[in-house]
Amino acid sequence: MTDPRQEIKAFASTIFEWPGRLLFPPVCAGCRRQVSQPGTLCGACWPKLKLLERPWCEVMGTPFSHDMGDGFLSADAIANPPPFRRARAAVSYSGVARQMVQGLKYSDRTDLAPWMARWMLRAGSELLPDADVVVPVPLHWRRFFSRRFNQSAELARAVAALSGKAFEPSAVQRVKVTRQQVGLGQREREDNVRGAFRVPAEAEIRVSGRNVLLVDDVYTTGATVSAVTKALKKAGAGQVDVLTFARVIPGDFQPGEAATI
Ligand SMILES: [Zn+2]
Repeated sequence: MTDPRQEIKAFASTIFEWPGRLLFPPVCAGCRRQVSQPGTLCGACWPKLKLLERPWCEVMGTPFSHDMGDGFLSADAIANPPPFRRARAAVSYSGVARQMVQGLKYSDRTDLAPWMARWMLRAGSELLPDADVVVPVPLHWRRFFSRRFNQSAELARAVAALSGKAFEPSAVQRVKVTRQQVGLGQREREDNVRGAFRVPAEAEIRVSGRNVLLVDDVYTTGATVSAVTKALKKAGAGQVDVLTFARVIPGDFQPGEAATI
C-alpha cells in the first residue's frame, strides 16, 4: 500500500505546479519549442551553443585553437592590456546564444537568467573564489525606467545567489545617456562610454578595498566593462574581473549580426 501522505504531497505539488505550467509552459531558450524543463534548450538547439573552453588566453578568456601552455596570452591582451584583471565568458555570441541574450534583454525572459548564470559560474570558476562582491553593468536610470529591466543585473543577481557572494546592484551608476554601441567601431565605443560610469560617494564603502566581479550579458570590444572597471578602481576597488554570458569571438561573428549587439 502506498503511503497516503506521499500521495497527498504529490497531489499538492501537482496542484501548485499546474497553473504555472499551464500559463507558462517551458519553452526552449533558443527556438521557443516546448521543452520539459524551464530554462533549457531543446535537442536541436543545444548542439548549436558554442561553449568557450580551455585552452584560452589567461587574461581575455578567448579560446586558442591549440594548447599554448599555462599563462600564454593572446596578442590582443599583450597589445592592449585591459584595466580589468581577467575576463571570462560562457559561450560564443552567435546563433542560439544570441537568441538567448535577446530574449533576456527584450522579452523579459527572466526565467533564463539563473540558467545562463549556471554556465557563467562554470566559465568563471577561477574568478569566483577571488570575488568579494558581484556588480552588474548598470543601465542609465532613464533607460531602466523605460525598459524596467536590466539584463546584466538579473544575471549578476543569479551569479551572486548561486555562488553565495554579496550582490551590489547599485555600486556603479551610469551617469551619461550613451548611444547604443550598435554599429560603432572600437574607438567610437570607447569615446561613447568615456566618463559614463561612476561610483556614487555613498557606494564607495561597498567596493573600496574589495575585489569585484563585474557582470554583463555580452562582451563585444570590452569598451563598456573597461569604463566601468576604471570607475570602480577610482573608487578604491581591488582587483576587477569580468564575467559575461556571451562573448563576440572574431570568426563566429557574422557581419549581418552587427545590428543586434
Ligand atoms: Zn530549441
